[in-house]
Amino acid sequence: MPSEPNHVLEFPGGYTRSTGPVIGRFLTELRAGRIVGVRTAARTVLVPPLEYDPATGEPTLPDFVEVGPAGTVHEWTWVEEPRKNHPLDRPFAWALIRLDGADTSLVHAVDAPVKAMRTGLRVWPRWRPDRVGSITDLECFVPEVTTIVANVRTEYTVTPGAALARYLDALRRDVFLAGRCPACESVYVPYRLSCPQCGSVIEEELEVGPSGTVTTFAINNLPDPRAPQVPFVSAYILLDGADTPIIALLSEIPAAQVAEGMRVRAVFEGGTVKWFAPEREA
Ligand SMILES: [Zn+2]
Repeated sequence: MPSEPNHVLEFPGGYTRSTGPVIGRFLTELRAGRIVGVRTAARTVLVPPLEYDPATGEPTLPDFVEVGPAGTVHEWTWVEEPRKNHPLDRPFAWALIRLDGADTSLVHAVDAPVKAMRTGLRVWPRWRPDRVGSITDLECFVPEVTTIVANVRTEYTVTPGAALARYLDALRRDVFLAGRCPACESVYVPYRLSCPQCGSVIEEELEVGPSGTVTTFAINNLPDPRAPQVPFVSAYILLDGADTPIIALLSEIPAAQVAEGMRVRAVFEGGTVKWFAPEREA
């Protein structure tokens, strides 16, 4: 508990002193909403600017450099109970802030929850709207915005590429269109224009399926807009004649009876594949 002071030194109306050219420039820039440092003969940038390089005692150059406005917290200490003359009336941090482009740190307040405070925290200044040319024109620093909550809704139309357009066109005729690589002879469905394995241009088209073999499958218990009834089965199906499986719904059979290696056949409806179903014995 600090004892009550028994002396007061006060200049009624304030004590007017001249700032000198360096501090004067710093404060004038603050009034304009900018932060400047000054360069030393050793090319380091001092912020706040000083008339003399504290390392060498040499005068600094009349070379002002705009820094920040963002910076990085290097050290900080927490003030749980602000005093009357503190810049904020709620808990805050005093921090050593290295502004971008500066070689020295500035002491200033950071208005942030204690949980957010850490060495390395990126901060930006919060300026007073009515600036007068004082260090308090910089009200405090606040953490950089790193997350936002955005309402996302995008409406879009998918334009199939040439190969996919041909594939979809064939599906409307109840045909699976595949492409055979001239070099490695792999057969791809959906039909595509180049071989993903060897990069060759695919020119040969062929029909595959509509029967195939289940290579692997999943029983889904969460409804999907495309399969509202649960459980539903999604399966990888290797169409006869193809080297790559397609993924599709599998229906007309209880989920528990689906097995790897099962023979299935596409059921077309409305110009597309409705699902695959177990192949009926002829
Ligand atoms: Zn190939």
